[in-house]
Amino acid sequence: MDFLKPETAAKLEGRASPTPDEELAEEGSDPSPTAPPIDSMDKLPGYEGLDFTGGGAPPPPPAALPPPPENYGQVNVQHEVPSTERIREIVAGYVAEHCCFGKGPIEDMKIITVTPTPAMKYTLETMTETRITRWNYVPWRGETVPPPSGPPPGPWDVLITLEPSQWFQNLNSVAEVPNTQTVRVCHDCRGLRETRCTRCHGRGYTRCSSCHGRGSRTIHNDRRRCTWCHGRGSRRCITCHTEGMVPCPTCDAQGNIRCFVELTVKWQNHKDIKVVERTDLPDNLIRSVSGQEVFRAEEQRVHPIVGFPDRLVSESSSELVQKHGQQWPQERIFRQRHSVQSVPVFCVTYHYNGKQDDFFIYGNSQKIHFPDYPKQCCCVVM
Ligand SMILES: [Zn+2]
Ligand SMILES: [Zn+2]
Ligand SMILES: [Zn+2]
Repeated sequence: MDFLKPETAAKLEGRASPTPDEELAEEGSDPSPTAPPIDSMDKLPGYEGLDFTGGGAPPPPPAALPPPPENYGQVNVQHEVPSTERIREIVAGYVAEHCCFGKGPIEDMKIITVTPTPAMKYTLETMTETRITRWNYVPWRGETVPPPSGPPPGPWDVLITLEPSQWFQNLNSVAEVPNTQTVRVCHDCRGLRETRCTRCHGRGYTRCSSCHGRGSRTIHNDRRRCTWCHGRGSRRCITCHTEGMVPCPTCDAQGNIRCFVELTVKWQNHKDIKVVERTDLPDNLIRSVSGQEVFRAEEQRVHPIVGFPDRLVSESSSELVQKHGQQWPQERIFRQRHSVQSVPVFCVTYHYNGKQDDFFIYGNSQKIHFPDYPKQCCCVVM
């Protein structure tokens, strides 16, 4: 549910949209109506310090860690080695993207070895939840407001469920805390259903923007009566149609408002990746490509991976699980999942023009990292 005031104000404005000229004529406006006095609000158990701006409720203590996983299955994936033909195709695609690269080496390079050096990509995702409460109000249109059936539940005791399809996403939800609502007279109009027009300050007329209230304008040293306001210096207020009063925007002219404690729940998905890679290929290239998943677990809280065949994977997992456990003290860990992917990396050693060097092909999508391509400018004769 939204704070209704801005919507109501827009609706009122929409009845007579001011022209840009009229907008200029506005003589400043009254401050928008404030909230009901905070001292007059109900003192609800668990919500004693609540105001209209909102504050976070510290989360309950975290859930206990589950036992560590025992079996990692087959983690040594034998990635299919690309053929020499396929490697030349990949190099040709790479050269085509760089207009200045010479095509000569594509066919002329001699591929000596293709060495598999798979990388491990560890990903931890933590979906956290933040709960913020505040007083809010909406116009009361006479709907039934049942008396409280008991004390209101604490911010973290209000049940808000998510479908599994919504897990690990960034989401927001707004709800009313049960047993907190009351109906009261509108603080803005004191129940009169209308308030003083802020455009004309209740006068019904606004200063003419064309003559700035003088009633005349001087053009080429000739003083002429203002045709805009017919010399009056003022114009009829288009907001209130000279009434000086407008329907109260706070209660939408109902005279009463319904107050309640509003709970905003914010879910955020935090994702971290660590790459274990032992060649000269920049590790960050591995972050954006996929490989073959060799491990996956999902729990309310995951246990760091222990005893993975590659020790650096276990260490990466420990480090990130610990970091995520401490990084957001004002957020509750809602759910975690982690996975390990074996990402194919091939170091291709080639011979061209009397020199031996290497480049890399990596990821399921067979991307190439070839910073020292031998003919980077086709104008140079090598
Ligand atoms: Zn009102
Ligand atoms: Zn005028
Ligand atoms: Zn007015």
